[in-house]
Amino acid sequence: VLCFSQDFDFFYFVQQWPGAYCDTSHSCCYPKSGKPAADFGIHGLWPNYKDGSYPSNCNPDSAFDKSQISDLVSRMQKDWPTLSCPTNDGMKFWSHEWVKHGTCAESEELDQHEYFEAALKLKQKANLLQILTNAGIKPDDEFYDLDSIVEAIQEGTGFTPGIECNVDHSRDSQLYQIYMCVDTSASEFIECPLLPRGRCASRVQFPKF
Ligand code: 5GP
Ligand code: 5GP
Ligand code: 5GP
Repeated sequence: VLCFSQDFDFFYFVQQWPGAYCDTSHSCCYPKSGKPAADFGIHGLWPNYKDGSYPSNCNPDSAFDKSQISDLVSRMQKDWPTLSCPTNDGMKFWSHEWVKHGTCAESEELDQHEYFEAALKLKQKANLLQILTNAGIKPDDEFYDLDSIVEAIQEGTGFTPGIECNVDHSRDSQLYQIYMCVDTSASEFIECPLLPRGRCASRVQFPKF
């Protein structure tokens, strides 16, 4: 037990806006299951330390095993779609997330099935697109105040999110990822001990997808 015991302080639960992943100079590929819905998708559930550093690749003996998550695959295709190229079925992305980040949560007694299921449940708990839409913030290529995005999510979830931006072809700052913090049992949102550096301008575009 002790050899892989790797403690951490909290998780970042990171969701990505597909429109902002796809309209950069890297472009993207839709998964084999087809174009994902115009919704935030899970990027990952990442163990982190309070000082901003984080463990990774914690257990080389714990390979990704798709047979352990076969009952979750249809939900993962919907809520955790891969957008990287070349087109694939998502197992590459999920395997990468398990090996790099998930293995560092095993010390909290989360096995593979529990790890992926926990992320799916967290996405249901915080319906970010609904929250933003209700606040009049829509994926319509318009620009919004960064502060208004943060406030809407604060009011909708009770917690302060971290917002990460990237840039599109026109070098405009756009909403790319939303970070929420989660306790080490992977079940409850908490206030972030530390917000990630977000690289956002004060007004950011919310691109269509
Ligand atoms: P990986 O994510 O596989 O480590 O890296 C894949 C590549 O995607 C990296 O070169 C990374 O820089 C790039 N990348 C970073 N941000 C984005 C993005 O917003 N969209 C796309 N399509 N690729 C990105
Ligand atoms: P990027 O350089 O695109 O921000 O991040 C590349 C990768 O580094 C991410 O896919 C993620 O695996 C990891 N990463 C970046 N920032 C953090 C962080 O604050 N915490 C953790 N746990 N991983 C991170
Ligand atoms: P990270 O290391 O930051 O947790 O995850 C990024 C890695 O996952 C990159 O290697 C990237 O190529 C891969 N990846 C596969 N699908 C996606 C996707 O839809 N979004 C992002 N951000 N990365 C993806």
